[in-house]
Amino acid sequence: MVRAIVGANWGDEGKGKITDMLGQESDIIVRFQGGANAGHTIVNNYGKFALHTLPSGVFYGHTTSIIGNGVALNIPVLFQELQGIVDRGVPVPKLFVSDRAQIVMSYHILFDQLEEERLAGKSFGSTKSGIAPFYSDKYAKIGFQVSELFMEEADLKEKIERVILQKNVMLEHLYHKEPLKVADIFEELMGYKKMVEPYVCDVSTYLWEAIKEGKNILLEGQLGTLKDPDHGIYPMVTSSSTLAAYGAIGAGIPPYEIKQVIAVCKAYSSAVGAGAFVSEIFGDEATELRNRGGDGGEYGATTGRPRRMGWFDCVASRYGCRLQGATDVAFTVLDVLGYLDEIPVCIGYEIDGKVTKEFPATYLLEKAKPVYKVLPGWKCDITGIRNYEELPKECREYVEFVEKELGFPITMVSNGPGREDIIFRKSTGL
Ligand code: GDP
Repeated sequence: MVRAIVGANWGDEGKGKITDMLGQESDIIVRFQGGANAGHTIVNNYGKFALHTLPSGVFYGHTTSIIGNGVALNIPVLFQELQGIVDRGVPVPKLFVSDRAQIVMSYHILFDQLEEERLAGKSFGSTKSGIAPFYSDKYAKIGFQVSELFMEEADLKEKIERVILQKNVMLEHLYHKEPLKVADIFEELMGYKKMVEPYVCDVSTYLWEAIKEGKNILLEGQLGTLKDPDHGIYPMVTSSSTLAAYGAIGAGIPPYEIKQVIAVCKAYSSAVGAGAFVSEIFGDEATELRNRGGDGGEYGATTGRPRRMGWFDCVASRYGCRLQGATDVAFTVLDVLGYLDEIPVCIGYEIDGKVTKEFPATYLLEKAKPVYKVLPGWKCDITGIRNYEELPKECREYVEFVEKELGFPITMVSNGPGREDIIFRKSTGL
């Protein structure tokens, strides 16, 4: 059976923790989109880790970790990460890299940096990991697929020449930098070939066989619905689809094999980068939530940037769950809200004097003002609780209110960063 774990918000919902937890009962864990631009933080018996490219299941001896064709593959980052976990006592994971995955080149990172500098105040707030230039090249058909590392040397050099001709026009005339050289790019690719060769796999065939054998497969998403290039807050989005539906493409499996979609929703909101964020809060209120949030504060796992903070947004999250096709919602980081007397929840957007519950396109989103309902806080620490009925009444009411607003069943409540900090529950009827 195939399950997808994806974000219903702006990312950083705690997908890594849920993947790590469900990894226990999985055989294969696949990353299907995104790159090393965002990170998952995982706390387990080996310590605390920030993963960027490796799937969150790498800590188990029994799982196979797969980098799917949909990923923006930064080969040096992948191998640094691999070495990093092995150095900290994690057994060497079984890893496969799709022969159809494409490679993030050093010039993608360079172009990302140069373009953000050029845009200055109008920039996208990119992590400068090369993701947008990478996906642009993929769809312009001038990217390098892992399989191409194994083609005839002369053919590869010819392709490099063709690709960098275009790059060099931009480098010299738009950014006023030194041009790229064929020999350097060829050498870069040969370095990647050496690193990746032992791991290359025809992933879609591998997964097809695994599905036939009844293996448990997890698809692990990065970021969340609102960062999807089609359905998110375009153009302040990422460059690959963050939706569970894309899992079929980015892993190479039939769409009908995805039987369960776990949409991860955080009990409050946080976002990185620019873009409309209707329930955003500021000042001391935001600083307090940021510092108490997640596991050691809401700061980017890749960049260390402080995340923008806000109250839970039912409008965005309902939309987020719907676009993911949520069969289950995992409601995370609920423990963090225990300090609040009252908890505002955004239940509607006021746009030009009218209140809507539907998430609008970006130009309207910029004008939206939050409509809040204020719920009572529970004022205690709920970490360590394992049965839903043992949660304080106000806390259960918060979960049940959100579930009704979402219209999707909250079947997991996460009340701490560890694997065991989870409460399974039955939906109380929608
Ligand atoms: P991801 O990218 O969706 O995996 O999310 P991140 O890893 O960026 O952010 C989630 C943060 O919250 C991490 O630091 C997790 O360790 C932490 N976390 C996950 N679930 C919980 C939870 O239920 N409670 C608390 N306090 N922290 C959590």
